[in-house]
Amino acid sequence: MKALLLEGERRLSLSDIDTPDTAADEVLIDVEVAGIGGSEYLAYNNPGMRNLPNVMGHGIAGTDPGGRRVAVFPLQSCGKCDDCRRGECQLCDGWALIGVQSDGGFAQKAAVPAKALVELPDDLVWEQAAFVEPFANAVNAWERSGADRDTRVAIVGAGGLGLGLVACAAESGCVAVAVSDLSSSRLRAAAELGASATETHLAGTYDVVFDTVGSAAARQTAVALTRKGGTCVLLGFASPGLEVDAGELIRSQKRIVGSFVYSKQQFVRAIGLAARCSAEWVTNLSFSEVEPLLAGYLDGDFSTVKAVLRPNR
Ligand SMILES: [Zn+2]
Repeated sequence: MKALLLEGERRLSLSDIDTPDTAADEVLIDVEVAGIGGSEYLAYNNPGMRNLPNVMGHGIAGTDPGGRRVAVFPLQSCGKCDDCRRGECQLCDGWALIGVQSDGGFAQKAAVPAKALVELPDDLVWEQAAFVEPFANAVNAWERSGADRDTRVAIVGAGGLGLGLVACAAESGCVAVAVSDLSSSRLRAAAELGASATETHLAGTYDVVFDTVGSAAARQTAVALTRKGGTCVLLGFASPGLEVDAGELIRSQKRIVGSFVYSKQQFVRAIGLAARCSAEWVTNLSFSEVEPLLAGYLDGDFSTVKAVLRPNR
């Protein structure tokens, strides 16, 4: 089968590899759509924790051996520790993501645990299914923020995570949702999902601010946009840095909250939110088109709203 292998820093090769073996608890799915997001372009630039070569792609949807249309819940954990029992499997010391610590969806087929499959509704097209994984991250961040319909919300970044937060806000009946991004196509998608204001840069202060970008500058902006006594949720991963004036943070009583991936329940909830998305926001790519896209991201070209690999199209 064809697969894209991440072999090192900025080295991605299209290879013919053996179809993966399946363990007793696994099934082989035909990959219909594999999302290309922040994790993939960051890993393309710096593979970090990944064992190379790695088949990237953790936002996977496809067809199982029974012909069912499914999304893959990619988070794996021990299932036994206190964190897992509490339902916070992302805190498990043994957490791993399919497509990060193991091979994922940048291939024609993927071997995944049968228990990771979540059936998709018939009317959710593959392009919409590409939003399920990023939107599940947004569901966790939204729930951790404590925001409700009366909250004044700001979202820094309108990629998959930011759009997912707009969808969460819309579903909650929240009417004051300001979104910033440098990409006009992403801002248009945010407005269609229900954002009340879309700008390249936001001013003023908000009750709850989400940073989905993760650069040191974006985090600093997000903290500055948070009102005194407000909450700033960090879920973007672009860099490790965060510079805050601790004295100012203490006197202003701001809360800074981290948010990482999702529970199975939140992943399932994201399917309903993904149905709010337009298939027209999605750019379908062949294997050979992935590397130019990732290189473009590194040059700051975020004109695509959501790009996906379609390995079997
Ligand atoms: Zn555990």
